[in-house]
Amino acid sequence: MSELHDLHDDVRQTVRDLADTVHRAADRDDGGVTIHPEPSLLAQLREAVETGSENGKAGGRSSTRSPADLAALALLQQAERDAAAMHVQALAQDTVTPEERIRAVAGIVGRWTDPRAVATMLEQLRALKRAIRGLLDPQRHITVAAACPECGTRMVWRHQDGENVQTPALSMEHDRGCVCLHCGETWSTPQHLESLRRTIEYAERRDPPARVRSGAEGAAGPVESVDVSPDEE
Ligand SMILES: [Zn+2]
Repeated sequence: MSELHDLHDDVRQTVRDLADTVHRAADRDDGGVTIHPEPSLLAQLREAVETGSENGKAGGRSSTRSPADLAALALLQQAERDAAAMHVQALAQDTVTPEERIRAVAGIVGRWTDPRAVATMLEQLRALKRAIRGLLDPQRHITVAAACPECGTRMVWRHQDGENVQTPALSMEHDRGCVCLHCGETWSTPQHLESLRRTIEYAERRDPPARVRSGAEGAAGPVESVDVSPDEE
């Protein structure tokens, strides 16, 4: 047997002693055999802590624990911390892909019942998604901070990565040129884009952003609402 094989065997045996109930055979006087279940060491430790806490209650008003009970409680808490640390260490050293890791995260988070803990993990996953998308398609987020010359809309709401975000209406899309996310007007050729630039410059000089538009929309201001979902399936 190789050394590695022996080590793996020893790991399995030690984990069985710590975590698994074992069934031991005992010879009876009548010549038969009785199988006794023997709880794992961790189960026995937990039982010692629970018994100690019951004795404390039964012992009167003062729910003091004996030194041995306190030692058992401290060791159980240490065992929980050690098990968590070994779990993290084992996962970190395991040779798995990031895809497998985040799938495992989803499986673990799926069992959580604290909404804040779930939301925290969700935000970390979304931040990773945004960072990768931003790097792969940097032009996707280039926008023009001016009102659309066609419809006058300056800002729109768009649904992005599960949240509604406000974004300029004029958006540079790398394969289509400049697109108004409100009215759909598109400026795609270099000549169109140059003409758009001049139109915007003229409009901003004549009609600065502070008072944006007059007319039917009046006090409604520059913000239009439109639901565009460019990326969500
Ligand atoms: Zn427009």
